[in-house]
Amino acid sequence: MIFKQLFDQKSSTYTYLIASAKGREALIIDPVFENVNQYVKFLKELDLNLVKVIDTHIHADHVTGASKLKDITKCTTIMGEHTPADTVELKVKDDEYINLDNLKIRAMYTPGHTSDSYSFLMDNYLFSGDTLLINGTGRTDFQNGDAKDAYNSIFNKLLKLPEETLLYPAHDYKGEKVSTIGKEKKQNPRLQVNSINEYVEIMNNLDLKKPTEIDNNVAKNIRLGA
Ligand code: FE
Repeated sequence: MIFKQLFDQKSSTYTYLIASAKGREALIIDPVFENVNQYVKFLKELDLNLVKVIDTHIHADHVTGASKLKDITKCTTIMGEHTPADTVELKVKDDEYINLDNLKIRAMYTPGHTSDSYSFLMDNYLFSGDTLLINGTGRTDFQNGDAKDAYNSIFNKLLKLPEETLLYPAHDYKGEKVSTIGKEKKQNPRLQVNSINEYVEIMNNLDLKKPTEIDNNVAKNIRLGA
């Protein structure tokens, strides 16, 4: 399998490029607009045909490269069915599978960070978007975020996956690249709570700054960056 984890310096976003082998079909998760040319270069180098691009949710901190990639490669744009983005071509439901050659990727509806947040599971690779981060969790104070939903998505869905599941989030701000569900259960400070109310209390008192370009980014991302 080909698996590349790419990093956007400006927004600390991780983008993932997946394919079964050289010369085959490829999929990209959470592309960043400014880095599309870099992705196209990788696709060419590996002789890959980009057929699918997924956004885990409508991002607030960067503009998606989905539309630009579609223009260049004719790939299908994918998001979960709760997305407010009308131009998404394939809207997947909770537990639906996306195929890529012989690879199968399961969509998991994990609202909370935003009401349209999905995670994607391929074998033991979990692409958690901003739902579950390494040593953190996605904020829940904008885009219909909800700390109770986030708790349920994290505790009743993602943390129920096998402990050895590899966690690949959409961001990291400290240079961490991968974790596991087992590690996060033990070490992630946000997850050391005894009740949903305790979690909600933490999330509702984070007092975070509004992302600088959120209004512009969200407006663009509703059109998939077009
Ligand atoms: Fe986000």
